[in-house]
Amino acid sequence: MTFTVAIIGRPNVGKSTLFNRLVGRKLAIVHDQPGVTRDRREGRATLMGMEFRVVDTAGFEDDGGDSVEARMRRQTDQAVTAADVALLLIDARAGVTPLDRHFADYLRRLPTPVILVANKCEGKAGAPGLYEAYGLGMGEPVPVSAEHGEGMYELFEALMPHA
Ligand code: GDP
Ligand code: MG
Repeated sequence: MTFTVAIIGRPNVGKSTLFNRLVGRKLAIVHDQPGVTRDRREGRATLMGMEFRVVDTAGFEDDGGDSVEARMRRQTDQAVTAADVALLLIDARAGVTPLDRHFADYLRRLPTPVILVANKCEGKAGAPGLYEAYGLGMGEPVPVSAEHGEGMYELFEALMPHA
């Protein structure tokens, strides 16, 4: 038995970097096939021996038309609906933006449990954003650095109850 985790958040917060870190090399070429929507990637993740399905989202290559926001929302809808838990990523270096709040308000209305993840927390540059993240009202943020592989044990602990 396994569970599904959707990585959600505005562009550039590090969703794909976290996805790649969780999935590792096993993903490789699978999603480079022509004709496959490139912005909704799925893979089998391993974290501290725990396995789960993970879905990355990007939100800009949906062909259904409409505004960027509508496209992001549609893609997020699909991913969150199919998921047992959503990771809401923010960029702790950039701080909390209006678009982050938009995602938080949107996810709050859905039954899917959400774990708030503050990415880019390596070094000290993420500290102010980490404090701001508490203000989103999504619980305690999990500080990580997807790029440097930091905070992965804490992420594991946060995901454990949903396994
Ligand atoms: P996405 O648009 O949310 O999928 O974001 P990406 O994964 O494409 O990353 C956006 C940018 O943030 C890239 O330049 C990454 O190298 C950078 N990035 C991702 N994770 C980290 C991190 O942990 N620390 C820092 N400093 N940069 C990161
Ligand atoms: Mg991406």
